[in-house]
Amino acid sequence: MKEEKKGFSVPDGLFIRCGVCKTILFRKEFEKNFKVCPHCGFHYRLSVKERIDLLLDNNSFQEKFTELRTADPLSFRCLKNYSELVEKSEQKTGLREAVVTGEGKLGGISLALAFFDFGFIGGSMGSVVGEKITRLFELAEASKKPILMVIASGGARMQEGMFSLFQMAKTVTALKKYQRRNLPYVALFTNPTTGGVTASFASLADIILAEPQALIGFAGPKVIEQTTGSRLPKGFQTAEFLMKHGFVDLVVPRSEQRDTLIKLFDYLIGG
Ligand SMILES: [Zn+2]
Repeated sequence: MKEEKKGFSVPDGLFIRCGVCKTILFRKEFEKNFKVCPHCGFHYRLSVKERIDLLLDNNSFQEKFTELRTADPLSFRCLKNYSELVEKSEQKTGLREAVVTGEGKLGGISLALAFFDFGFIGGSMGSVVGEKITRLFELAEASKKPILMVIASGGARMQEGMFSLFQMAKTVTALKKYQRRNLPYVALFTNPTTGGVTASFASLADIILAEPQALIGFAGPKVIEQTTGSRLPKGFQTAEFLMKHGFVDLVVPRSEQRDTLIKLFDYLIGG
């Protein structure tokens, strides 16, 4: 219920209640609507598979770098051991890490792709996520492909300490090499896009799109309010607020994302 209230996930059942506007919804209709509440427009979390089905040409996605597995460099112990947490996240999501990388087609255009899953330790960036993103930039540079990344992340993975923070510099270095090719890199920010991912390769995209009402920032609003001792403006760190202030280029509802991205890439690569 706690998660439902936050609007991050949807409980099982024939009918569900929107955690934001409290309207009772028929599950099938809700799923047909790409998990967007038809009443308040809240965009619920999608799995990587749902994102791929929503955006890409049928059966065009080929996953890459699946051999990379997370280590436990600090032997991190907390309420749950890090290695146990990774194992549980693998079982829960069916994924091996918080990001799935590969190649695929969108409206016939070949792209290098990355999809984050917030359900895997909050979409956090540890050594493997950083390595996969770095390799994706290198692959796109070598094969001269434009890049699309769909982001959902709580930031750096604290269980890997400094090894996570290294990934910020590493990914950005690979990105800078890729950008010498003058190829487009588009990022779609979903709820939430925060922390060390926002503060590294995500925000350096040529074009930043965002889902309606997505939380986007570095630290969360509560942390900022507690640190600065001041109240934040209404809607602060939402996609709409950030578009108004020039950080986000366009807020795009899920139903329009595929068509918008096709038009955008077609334009950017001079088709
Ligand atoms: Zn709603």
